[in-house]
Amino acid sequence: MDFLPFTRPAIDEATISAVGEVLRSGWLTSGPKVQAFETQLCDLMGGRAVRSLNSGTAALEIALDLIGIEAGDEVITTPLSWVATANVVLLAGARPVFVDIDPRTRNIDLNLIAAAVTPRTRAIIAVDLAGLPVDRDALYALAAQYRLRVIEDAAQSFGASWNGRTIGSFGDLVAFSFHANKNLTTGEGGCLVLPDPALVPLCEKLRLQGVVRSPDGTMEVDVAGGKFNLADIAAAIGLGQLPDLAEFTARRRELAQDYFAKFDTTLGCELPVADFVQSNWHMFQVVLPLARMRISRGEFITRMKSSGIAVGVHYPAMHLFRLYRAMGYREGQFPVAEHVGAGIVTLPLFPAMSSADVTRVCLACSEILNEVWA
Ligand SMILES: *Cc1c(COP(=O)(O)O)cnc(C)c1O
Repeated sequence: MDFLPFTRPAIDEATISAVGEVLRSGWLTSGPKVQAFETQLCDLMGGRAVRSLNSGTAALEIALDLIGIEAGDEVITTPLSWVATANVVLLAGARPVFVDIDPRTRNIDLNLIAAAVTPRTRAIIAVDLAGLPVDRDALYALAAQYRLRVIEDAAQSFGASWNGRTIGSFGDLVAFSFHANKNLTTGEGGCLVLPDPALVPLCEKLRLQGVVRSPDGTMEVDVAGGKFNLADIAAAIGLGQLPDLAEFTARRRELAQDYFAKFDTTLGCELPVADFVQSNWHMFQVVLPLARMRISRGEFITRMKSSGIAVGVHYPAMHLFRLYRAMGYREGQFPVAEHVGAGIVTLPLFPAMSSADVTRVCLACSEILNEVWA
């Protein structure tokens, strides 16, 4: 049987040809494809200003810069995310302040945020883990109450929605990633949705060395911008993916539903929230019943691999990384994130998967977990 990866990008032949055309065109970096991609992203986001970037991390870094986050500031976020979410706060010279997660959604527990707010708190970075949106009504009510800015780390929720509105089409700053494993990819890439078109000039300066070009061919620089522009090669991949986004999301929801129908609930795993309307099902993750197992998560993953199935870990609680421990974070501070981070596994889910693949994954989980029951 074929090896089943936990994800695989869906790239069609037309997209491959389109990339070939860019390569033949002689214009590889930011150009007409980037412009066309941004126009389509803007439409998708209800006409809001969107700028493409070369990563989701870049989108977060620029968002923090646009807010004016600096040394001494505090930014509240979740300990259960890709470490980029907190690293960008450190890179901005500020302090990431972790708040534990909700065991059901695995997203930041909004009820715990108020207690973490101090006079130095400037913003909340909310992450839609696995594509399940954080409650936007509650999030923005909190932000308004404590006068905090919001950066939505929507790296995983492109194509998801909240109360019928596409994530990114409303709210404060919204950062998306188009990394190879995300629901829509450009290989590497990302974009930032801006709450106000007046931010576009500064966003563009931060994106590319602070340079502003005049029609007469001269240039001026008044900001030390970075190097975050997307290449046309990458934008061509994105343009090839966008028409399929709705289909990708629908297929992922079907497969997730299939998992719920077939996954043996007597195994003792914690299943994700069964939301087939708002989530884009970026990942299907279960938390293993480690306390009742005679093997570790690592051994479970090895055994799944022997059955030809890849299983990922997204993510260990990041306050336990050495970098964050060195800031004073330690075990026991965020028990829910620690529990989930220790036992979570990502099962295969990607649009080209079949229902038979889901069956195979569920059977392999049953076989292994029934055998190692403590
Ligand atoms: C992927 C991801 C990022 C970073 O995106 P890159 O494009 O890899 O820089 C940030 N936050 C979360 C939650 C992610 O999943």
